[in-house]
Amino acid sequence: MIRDIQEEILRLKKEKDVCILAHSYQTCDILEIADFVGDSFALSKLAKTAPNKTVLMCGVRFMAETCKLLSPEKKVILSSPHAGCPMAEQFEPEDIEKFKAENPGSAVVAYINTTAKLKTKCDVCVTSASALSIVGKLEEKDILFIPDPNLGNYVAKNFPEKNIKVINGGCPIHGAIKVDEVKAVKEEHPDALFLVHPECVPEVVELADYVGSTSGIMKYAKESQHKEFIIGTEISITAQLQMACPDKKFYSLSKDLICPDMKATTLVDVLNCLKGEGGEEIVMDEETIKAAVKPIEKMLELG
Ligand code: SF4
Repeated sequence: MIRDIQEEILRLKKEKDVCILAHSYQTCDILEIADFVGDSFALSKLAKTAPNKTVLMCGVRFMAETCKLLSPEKKVILSSPHAGCPMAEQFEPEDIEKFKAENPGSAVVAYINTTAKLKTKCDVCVTSASALSIVGKLEEKDILFIPDPNLGNYVAKNFPEKNIKVINGGCPIHGAIKVDEVKAVKEEHPDALFLVHPECVPEVVELADYVGSTSGIMKYAKESQHKEFIIGTEISITAQLQMACPDKKFYSLSKDLICPDMKATTLVDVLNCLKGEGGEEIVMDEETIKAAVKPIEKMLELG
């Protein structure tokens, strides 16, 4: 059954000249039919260079929006219109305008996990992989880091000379990991290295042997000489690493590390999108695209 749907997807994808992007947190049946698999910003960059005129994003809304910002001439479809990201959507542009009015001279740094309308008010974007190097290159001493206070605090710790403000909120999945859970899993697997995403709370990050983006965690685990790892990010990464490195052992930090929004897309949704019966085309006016792409261009310039 799954195989039949996958074959129909591959046939339609070719017939309709569609590039399928799948974020690494998607289910395996979707990863198998994707043209590209990876982190959100890497996917948007790959979609830009792909020859296809239509792009189908299997991920959450801000990822499809970022894809549209980098490739405004392409038709970009979000596979499941219900797939949002609570962290990316937690602020409105007015919140940033207010902060700027009250803090003249401050830079607003936006994690790439933000909505396009929020990006229109920000000075520069960062990814979890580039956050330290980009913030380090900013002239401004006063910074507001949005929307993830945990990533913001991680950056702030590395730049004590800067005044980095954050706002409460963050990723409800990574942010929910508790120190006690980490200690218990570490005790169970004393020889394992603990690899964690910086969206976790600082007390959890402090216990890590490696802190990095999803692709950073995967690269580290694959290249390491070590044989056992506790994975402190979405549960699908543990399974993917185990498949990629059968000679190593990977343990999920918690069975609750599942992002429901990332899992909102099903294989049938992908099929329906290709049939023209589902998904949502991302539509943005020129003014929004022009303003929202600026902080991304600034990130690329500094990076
Ligand atoms: S894992 Fe967290 S940051 Fe990523 S999409 Fe889900 S809620 Fe958003």
